[in-house]
Amino acid sequence: MTTQEHSFYTTVQRNYDKAAALTDWPKGLLAQIRECNSVYQMRFPVKVGNHYEVIEAYRVQHSQHRQPTKGGIRYSAMVDQEEVMALASLMTYKCAIVDVPFGGAKGGIKISPHKYSENDLKKITRRYTVELIKKGFIGPGIDVPAPDYGTGEREMAWILDTYLTFSRGEIDAVACVTGKPVNQNGIRGRTEATGRGVYYGIREACSNAEDMKAIGLTPGIAGKRIVVQGFGNVGSYSAAISQNEGDAKIVGVAEYNGTIYDPKGIDVAKLLKHRKKTGSILGMAGTKTLANKQDWISIDCDILIPAALENQINAENAHKVKAKIIAEAANGPVTAGAEEILLEMGIMILPDMYLNAGGVTVSYFEWLKNLSHMRFGRMEKRFNQNTYSSIIDTVEKLTHQNIGDKEKRIITRGADEIDLVRSGLEETMVTAYHNIRDLKKRRKKIPDLRTAAFINALDKVASDYMAMGVFP
Ligand code: NAD
Repeated sequence: MTTQEHSFYTTVQRNYDKAAALTDWPKGLLAQIRECNSVYQMRFPVKVGNHYEVIEAYRVQHSQHRQPTKGGIRYSAMVDQEEVMALASLMTYKCAIVDVPFGGAKGGIKISPHKYSENDLKKITRRYTVELIKKGFIGPGIDVPAPDYGTGEREMAWILDTYLTFSRGEIDAVACVTGKPVNQNGIRGRTEATGRGVYYGIREACSNAEDMKAIGLTPGIAGKRIVVQGFGNVGSYSAAISQNEGDAKIVGVAEYNGTIYDPKGIDVAKLLKHRKKTGSILGMAGTKTLANKQDWISIDCDILIPAALENQINAENAHKVKAKIIAEAANGPVTAGAEEILLEMGIMILPDMYLNAGGVTVSYFEWLKNLSHMRFGRMEKRFNQNTYSSIIDTVEKLTHQNIGDKEKRIITRGADEIDLVRSGLEETMVTAYHNIRDLKKRRKKIPDLRTAAFINALDKVASDYMAMGVFP
């Protein structure tokens, strides 16, 4: 990123202002929504090896217009207050876009997780959770963290365990955090949720023949050439599901230590196995490692999925993009300077606050599951199976024909938790895409999908504030 470019937080604020200027909401209300409501900056000591380290960490609640507030926790050496404020702001808009009834929040601990042992990470996570408890910044009805960059279900299990230690008798306590392991009150399908949502979003955008024609692509995700930057949770699932279910071709994958390329397509399952064995994506049979690891940006492809960190596509490298679609799986991967260049180049940008909302959507399902104290599908699965079987029996009797055993099994299957989670996620992502696209089509002054997504979110958040009677 050039020094003249704005920070991630300023970019979010500028994008907000661009959208807010196209609405009729009162100025005071727009100013209220824009700001972060509560910022908790903390420092705490943790004994690492033989010495004490003072750990810098944050939790920001951007908007409490709906509670609990919700958002992931990031472990990265780049964490600072502004970054967490930017991410918390995006969470408010993200939740509104996918109609998840939460305010936005985000947490961050300024550490490089790979520099610490598992035991040290556990100590840091537990201490961070205690700090949140002390200040009333966590709880099923207050603020509910989840995984983000550098964290996963392991960290969420530690947070849960710490919270439970302090919440004797609180019946809904397990809903204090989402993204937990399935056997620790998690939900099936949460780990893959953000990547799966990214796939549904891209598939929906690609399915519109008119929009695809405008950017010189044929409709449909099948056969589209994809490059993914960041092969972590979000990037790897986006790639795997686009390949397995969408028949897309993954031609490039970039990680912090290098970029691999194969125009014939990289088998994502094999790449995951290769990395597990060798510790790196590099050296995968059949792929070429690019001489300059930053050249992921200029690989000839149809869809570029940045899935690592913010500010990756900036005013310095934006002109090198060959893709026709940038699918923002990461938060804030495109700077304001880059966005101007990319829109000028006629590139379609699927904005982060819509495209990566699959994670918070399934976190919402997990939270609901925890509050209901029951697995989705438990009540109706067998009932539905019995009903479908009787229908088949009746059809067979009336037609004097037998339906094959395999077909019977498919038709009479009742939905399990994973089926319901995936179907709820698909419905959410498809509906939200059309809401944003239709808004842009309807209101000619809206210049791009990001602004449309912002306005869609802003209208919902502003209506909530008005309904509260806070503004006349
Ligand atoms: P992760 O830690 O699982 O994976 C990130 C990957 O990016 C890692 O493999 C890392 O090595 C790689 N990386 C780091 N720097 C890189 C670079 N310069 N070039 C290429 N690769 C690089 O994190 P994640 O959970 O997949 O999050 C990725 C992004 O998606 C973040 O912006 C996060 O905020 C966003 N996001 C995550 C979720 C979620 O559910 N985890 C939900 C919404 C949005």
